[in-house]
Amino acid sequence: MGMPRKSSRQIRKYTLTYKSRPHGRSRRPARTIITRSLVTSSPGGFFQRLPSELFDMILDKLSVPEISVFSMASREITTYVVDYISTQAWMNKMIVHNFHHTSSLEHTATVAQYRNLGLLFKRCTLLLPTKERLKYIYSRFSMIPCFMLEQCVVPDCIGFSCHGVFLQTLIAGWDQLECYRVFNFMCATTNLLQKIQTVVTAQPGRRWYQELQLRLFCRLVLLDPCLHQPDCHFWLTQILKPWPIVSQAHLLIILYGPLQPKGTLCWQDLEERGLPHTALWDLAKAILLLYGKQEVRDWTTKSMLAILQELTVIPRPWHGDNVARLLVLCGSKLCYTILASMALNGKLLDVSRLIVYMTLVCEKDGYHMSWVVKLVQEISKAFNTGPEKFFFIQQVEKMFSDITREFFEFSLTGNLEDREGFQNLCILLDSSARFHTEFLQMFLKQQ
Ligand SMILES: [Zn+2]
Repeated sequence: MGMPRKSSRQIRKYTLTYKSRPHGRSRRPARTIITRSLVTSSPGGFFQRLPSELFDMILDKLSVPEISVFSMASREITTYVVDYISTQAWMNKMIVHNFHHTSSLEHTATVAQYRNLGLLFKRCTLLLPTKERLKYIYSRFSMIPCFMLEQCVVPDCIGFSCHGVFLQTLIAGWDQLECYRVFNFMCATTNLLQKIQTVVTAQPGRRWYQELQLRLFCRLVLLDPCLHQPDCHFWLTQILKPWPIVSQAHLLIILYGPLQPKGTLCWQDLEERGLPHTALWDLAKAILLLYGKQEVRDWTTKSMLAILQELTVIPRPWHGDNVARLLVLCGSKLCYTILASMALNGKLLDVSRLIVYMTLVCEKDGYHMSWVVKLVQEISKAFNTGPEKFFFIQQVEKMFSDITREFFEFSLTGNLEDREGFQNLCILLDSSARFHTEFLQMFLKQQ
């Protein structure tokens, strides 16, 4: 006869479908591991002869990684381990909820524990179909408030980081179809799509808490724990794909845009002042991640240009420094593609303005001015005729003069203590001199 079940085993909310033991059969695993004592003295099997309580005591002594390895020994042992880790006593002991105010040592230990738990749940659900696996696992973990969107308001909560490590360990090596299922499952469990819709249809900054929660959840759970770029690309594409271009641009800023020191998004600063390159670096990396995968049909240069054009006017047209700095951070290839495409579409004024601001950014951030000179040279090659090339250069030169005038007028409006306008004008004059020196030098070398 089978051992009587402990009452604590009755609390399981989800029953595994592969657990098809005949009624009344012992919970103890069948003989599958050949041990020395088994070979020498046990016709009935080593584990078969163990009382259930003793078996539990043995499992109590094992660490989470050890149980995870043990769970793969046989189907029966997997079933036994699943039973064992489904008890409230085990969950209370091993699924730690200490996500707040932890020291760095505790933080590391909690993250490591969730990595181990990810491995354990990955291994002991190996025989289940993906959807069943996820349902079974998340019936335990979705009850942790710090794992879920908009459930915890503690600023330094490490719940999302632990969730991310857990999820990435769990799905490591899964194929793309399985990962689609994971994304759909996560959307259903967390209402992710509705929450995205709520923030992208609102005025930027109005729902600052929801924006921040969305950013932290997507970054810490789905995107940042990815070890490989294609994985990160996959998740970012899944998050962006359901939405129109303008919402994708809005979402990209929510996910990767600059943050204020207090943690909310710098919507207003994008428009009003030049931000340091560190503030725009994440956004540039995200654009490069998407753009670098041109072979993926959904992400053509055209759609990327459209996203960039939308991005740089949210919430209103960005400060010239910020647009130019973002492009400079995206590198030569992307800059050339964007500017050449704009130039060929007749947007010479916009292109010229961007070039002047790029010289300013190069001067301020310490990049070599020859980079902008080469860019201008490449763009001019995109025009077929001599007069077109001349008109392009003429526009760039006129823009230098227009922007110098703008800066001069702005410097006159500031009070005497505020010399920022005047300083900017000086930097612009320096950058213009350096740009033209490089240009003339290149011309003289060709003589
Ligand atoms: Zn929390």
